[in-house]
Amino acid sequence: MGGSEWSYMKNAYETNWIAPVGPHVNGFEEDLKKFLGGQVSAGALNSGTAAIHLALILLNVKAGDEVICQSLTFVASANPIMYLKATPVFVDSEDQTWNMSPTLLEAAIADRVVKGNLPKAIIVVHLYGMPARMDEILEIAGRYGIPVIEDAAEALGSNFKKRKLGTLGLFGIFSFNGNKIITTSGGGALVSVNDDFIVKARSLASQARESAPYYQHEEVGYNYRMSNICAGIGRGQMEVLSLRIYQRRKNFDKYKHMLSDLPGISFQEEMDIDFFSNRWLSVIQVEPFGQEINSEKLRQFLTKYNIEARRVWKPMHMQPVFSKYPMYENGVSEQLFNNGLCLPSGSNLTDYELSRVVKRIKVFYDI
Ligand SMILES: *Cc1c(COP(=O)(O)O)cnc(C)c1O
Repeated sequence: MGGSEWSYMKNAYETNWIAPVGPHVNGFEEDLKKFLGGQVSAGALNSGTAAIHLALILLNVKAGDEVICQSLTFVASANPIMYLKATPVFVDSEDQTWNMSPTLLEAAIADRVVKGNLPKAIIVVHLYGMPARMDEILEIAGRYGIPVIEDAAEALGSNFKKRKLGTLGLFGIFSFNGNKIITTSGGGALVSVNDDFIVKARSLASQARESAPYYQHEEVGYNYRMSNICAGIGRGQMEVLSLRIYQRRKNFDKYKHMLSDLPGISFQEEMDIDFFSNRWLSVIQVEPFGQEINSEKLRQFLTKYNIEARRVWKPMHMQPVFSKYPMYENGVSEQLFNNGLCLPSGSNLTDYELSRVVKRIKVFYDI
């Protein structure tokens, strides 16, 4: 917490706005819009998953439609495709950004078209805060007329060519779950350059109630709106977002500096100045060597010293629940899953704690 979250929550309590509607909900949407540069509208929701679900509904994705999705991601990117009984078509990563490979995206679309299905949407993910190759992805999507949903759940405050991630596609989604760079305890947002979509999303998120003196419903709605209390937390968190990005980027810089003498370790790097990551998590790749050196062995070693490191997301095409769906594969996401490790990356990580992590990693390599 930054400090002022509490006064926003107290205000919600004192004014009795304890509901999924209220001044903080509107205020949080305004804060987000302003932070994102003023060009998009924002709808505050109760999760990032809900935001992806609504984006797909607004794009009229129906049962049997195909939706392209990055394979290397958290499962929440793909689940909403299933809610709609549509078919996920997974695309592998490229090894610079770890995000969707433009080459494979193009191959996937061409192949789906030959098979008689023009995909209805593309869900591209900015993994761990790192921007995907948006120039190429938007160019390919545009050529086929397929709308792009940016899953920026992990990438609030990251930029591509000085533009905020989440504002480059037709839709952007954010998550304010407890583990993200800022949190509302649980929450999310849908943003779009098209304000009509966001007006519609707010309505769908409130059970699609029509304006009438009685309860009138003409389509199926959802209970997806953010609570005024959570939005109050969010307003306080927005005040420290820039600080959080600074802190997280600093974690990464320190890890990189202090681990640079270990030849078996490499980092998720920003390709050039067009790519600016919020460094939500500092992630390394551990080059396997013999039987004793690999990311899982390092994870287990750190656990012994009460240091929690986590494996990189297991790709969707390797998940039993998605194994029967099409996958356009080059081996990159599988390799990142095998070798990747997320280091402790909290905004409140102290110098002492970070040095302790580094020290143990060095001991691991001495064995
Ligand atoms: C966290 C996350 C989501 C889902 O957000 P929730 O708010 O937890 O529903 C979606 N995609 C990615 C990549 C995420 O990391």
